[in-house]
Amino acid sequence: MFFRKQPIEKRLKKLAHQCQSAKALCVMSAEFLSCPIAILSMPSLPPTVPALSLQYKNQYVILYKLALPLSVERSILHELSHICLGHIDGVKIDLLAVIAGKTIFTDQQERDAEKLANQLLAAITDVRVLLPHTDRVSARFESLVG
Ligand SMILES: [Zn+2]
Repeated sequence: MFFRKQPIEKRLKKLAHQCQSAKALCVMSAEFLSCPIAILSMPSLPPTVPALSLQYKNQYVILYKLALPLSVERSILHELSHICLGHIDGVKIDLLAVIAGKTIFTDQQERDAEKLANQLLAAITDVRVLLPHTDRVSARFESLVG
């Protein structure tokens, strides 16, 4: 796909700064992916599976487990990252394996998706999840404490 050659992470991060939620970012991402992204909540998924993404009938699907709002945002962004980084293109998902808690991605793909998801979440929520001791947070803390 042509867009895969573009700096997709850069485009995503730019978009994230214009979005109020992970779902809104998915809708906007679908435009440059040229493929819709359906986001469906599941009443339950196995404990080790907060969310998963797959391709189904010419669309991407993100299934996520109902949970606390921030963790839902995080899970959706993690799956969106897998989609945008091309991790699920052409991959046959073994749902039984996924339900059994097995990941279909390599450790590197998981790290890449997690890193991008954290950056997107930070852009959307203005909260640094992985880097709680950044200058920005320190400055905010100092302004609150005085
Ligand atoms: Zn993952």
